[in-house]
Amino acid sequence: MLKRVGECIQCGECCKSVNINVVRDITLRQHGNMEELKRYLSYRGIQVVGEDVEKNLLFYTINIPCSQLGPDNECLVHNSPEKPLICHRYPWAKDDIAECSYTFEPATPFLSFNE
Ligand code: SF4
Ligand code: SF4
Repeated sequence: MLKRVGECIQCGECCKSVNINVVRDITLRQHGNMEELKRYLSYRGIQVVGEDVEKNLLFYTINIPCSQLGPDNECLVHNSPEKPLICHRYPWAKDDIAECSYTFEPATPFLSFNE
């Protein structure tokens, strides 16, 4: 198991788009196929950026920056109660944002007193 290490340097890279996961099989059934789904979503500025067939998920990205992102990419509500919980929690696993200052390292295993 890995634990997150480090602090947010407010690079703003995770604040420039909205990422949404949807149920894959239901969505593809509704739209007919992937090509149809992509066409429909593209008219609304939504991209299908990936899928996980095993977990039955599709991944969407919408390029809408957060309204709380400042001119220098800083979070205007950082260190305030107004910062959304998910922003405190991100990243919960290694992501593909190269600028992100967080790293992940193996968590120290729990030691039993009987050992
Ligand atoms: S609230 Fe702050 S950390 Fe969260 S997405 Fe907006 S700018 Fe980024
Ligand atoms: S990508 Fe990482 S360092 Fe950059 S704002 Fe998001 S959490 Fe902070």
